[in-house]
Amino acid sequence: MTEPLPDVRRRLGVRPLINLTGTLTTHGGISACPEAIEAAANIMSRGVDVLELQAAASRIIARATGAEAGFVAACSSAGICMGVAGAMTGDDLARIERLPDTTGMRSEVVIQAGHVVNYGHSIAQDIRLPGARPVVIGDVNAARSHQLAAAIGPQTAAGLFVVSHHCSGEGQIPFATFVEICHVKGVPVIVDLAAEYDLRGYLAHGADLTIHSSHKFLGGATAGIVAGRKPLVRAAYLQNFGIARPMKAGKESVAGALAALEAWGTRDHAARRQGMREVLEDWRRRLGALPGIEATIDPDPTGNPFDRLKLEVDPIEAGLNALQLVRELERGDPPIAVRSHQVEHGWLVMDPRSLGEGEAEIVADRIGAVLASAGRDGLGPASSDLESWRAEKARALRLWPDSD
Ligand SMILES: *Cc1c(COP(=O)(O)O)cnc(C)c1O
Repeated sequence: MTEPLPDVRRRLGVRPLINLTGTLTTHGGISACPEAIEAAANIMSRGVDVLELQAAASRIIARATGAEAGFVAACSSAGICMGVAGAMTGDDLARIERLPDTTGMRSEVVIQAGHVVNYGHSIAQDIRLPGARPVVIGDVNAARSHQLAAAIGPQTAAGLFVVSHHCSGEGQIPFATFVEICHVKGVPVIVDLAAEYDLRGYLAHGADLTIHSSHKFLGGATAGIVAGRKPLVRAAYLQNFGIARPMKAGKESVAGALAALEAWGTRDHAARRQGMREVLEDWRRRLGALPGIEATIDPDPTGNPFDRLKLEVDPIEAGLNALQLVRELERGDPPIAVRSHQVEHGWLVMDPRSLGEGEAEIVADRIGAVLASAGRDGLGPASSDLESWRAEKARALRLWPDSD
């Protein structure tokens, strides 16, 4: 047996963190699979012609997605920027070099109001970055096909469609209708599928370009997997010689993403889901027995094949509210990061997909310990007020790299 490598986090003086956010890249994304780790490490000390490497990527991505072509971008956000840019420039190198000056190019991107999501920044900024202008259709809870049709004109470069639990849950134009209207007007459709497991379905039903994150469900290196019709894929890839230069995917990202993509096709997904289900069931039993906690197993809201645990906190019974519980978990040792997107509704969500060896136990013990001391001694002065929590986070950002 070889000695396990020392934890690089410790060497850097960084606290190891238990990541129950699942895919959030701010907390490391999904743990990489062994195939991705091996491929990334393997290529790091070796020379390669990157055009050739990305051509190999195109073949592998085409096989995995059913697309005509593909490439690996730095991340999904980069892939969206590059797709939008490609829709404006085509393969015209002079135009590519001129962006974000869009003079003489179609430069509008139509998107439904309920799809203007924030995943660390607004997707509208991915549209604006290469110089395009978002044209927002409808309202947050109601977008209609006539509004989309009316918004498409001679300046429209692309339609951007987002599939995510962050999107408005109701009133949006369905994908098939969105594609039909765009295509009748000769406008390509770019689909942001960053965290979605479906690698083939949207392309099969008319998407011109799809974008998936390698570091989310696939368990690859940090990267974006771009797939689609060859001319648009090529136009998007060529942005590497223009605005995408500062979004470069390194060879280790390309190799690590491709290894994960290939391994994905061979995995026993049902067995994996079942394994995670056992962790969730165990948590549900233990945590659901705590005072003021209601624990339920929550299937993924956009229908991806995995589940999370939802913990609803009754502040009177529990002696603390959901936000305080989130904060206590964050500030413990090791810090535990949960999904707190809906903490204002009184619940937090635990995603098991990045759990390391032995961590499930630590998490259950810690939540038990926090609740045991809630409303009594030992609980720090964590604010229970959402606005002041947000203000504190903004203040901390502006102090970075200092912590106080
Ligand atoms: C995570 C996410 C992104 C960004 O993905 P990265 O690969 O981290 O840039 C874009 N869109 C949606 C819907 C996401 O969930």
